[in-house]
Parts: sequence; structure tokens; C-alpha cells
Amino acid sequence: MHTIESPGPDGPCADGGHPALAFCNAGTFADYRDFLAWSADLGLIDCALTLELSAEADRHRAQASHVVHEVRTLQAAIRLAVTDPSDTAGYQRITRMAHQAYADAVLLPGTPARWELGRALETPLYAVALAAVDLLTEVDLRTVRQCSVAGCSALAVEDARHRCAEELGGRAGVADRQAYATVARAIA
Ligand SMILES: [Zn+2]
Repeated sequence: MHTIESPGPDGPCADGGHPALAFCNAGTFADYRDFLAWSADLGLIDCALTLELSAEADRHRAQASHVVHEVRTLQAAIRLAVTDPSDTAGYQRITRMAHQAYADAVLLPGTPARWELGRALETPLYAVALAAVDLLTEVDLRTVRQCSVAGCSALAVEDARHRCAEELGGRAGVADRQAYATVARAIA
């Protein structure tokens, strides 16, 4: 039997064009280690901290599970803030996490100076929370939408969605035309 799977956020625009959108599109993380690997892939934390936190998560399993719970809360909050800015609940949760992130952070001198977010199990979560602040304050949210190209449902900025339209849209167009030709022959 042929089953039609619902399209996932795995097209060329899955990175959303912004780390906070990539985070929403990443779906459910299996556990802390899974979230940690994703954070390292995206460059939110460096290699040394990744190894350190991986060992730390083994020693403090309950705290690591709590972070995974907070990760899901943040994913939902960002999605809500982006898709329905009139609902302030998402903004309130992001505000709370940004406060926690900055409470742990130290401003390091440099050109430019940068925030170092600490070395706790929560650090990658805080990095994403601050990415969410950047998304909401620096990006025109009117350009952020769910991708409508067949085979993709990522939440992405316009430029990223164009990549899907170019790479997947063309393919879907061909499939549509072939299906149409088949139907046309069948009813002729
Ligand atoms: Zn897409």
C-alpha cells in the first residue's frame, strides 16, 4: 500500500535562514545529547564545551532532562511568537529565558566585544534563546512563513524559501505535469 507522508521540514530551507528558525525546524530532540549535537553542528557552542557538557549531562541526568523540557518550551514559544505576534505568551517565555541567559553571561572585551554565556548544561539553550531575541528584534517577521513547496514545511525567511522553490519546486512541477498528462490520457 502506498502511504502519503506529510511533508516534513527537510527541504533546502530547513535552516530557516536563521538559527532560531533552524531550531524550530529541528523537531523533537530525543534527549540532551541529541540537542547538544545539534547545537554543536550549528556552531552555537564550541567543541571543548560540547565534550564538557556531554560528560556533565551523564553526571546530572535530571537537570539534563529539565533542559530538554525547556528546549521544547522554547521551540513552541518561538513558533508562537513568529506565527502569531498578537499572542504575547511566546514573547514572555523568551523574555524569561533571555533574562536567565544574561544572568550567567560575561561581556568579553574585543572588537567587537562578545557575550560568553557560561559553561552550564543550560548554555546551549541560552544561546538559542538569544538567537530568538535576535530573530524577533532584527528580522522583519512579515517575511517569515511556513514553506509551501511540496516536500517541505519549514518555517523560514523569504530568501531561504526561494531555495526550496528553486530546488524542490521545479521537481514538483515536473511531477504535477506528468500526473496531469497521465490523467488526461486516461480520460481521453
Ligand atoms: Zn522549504
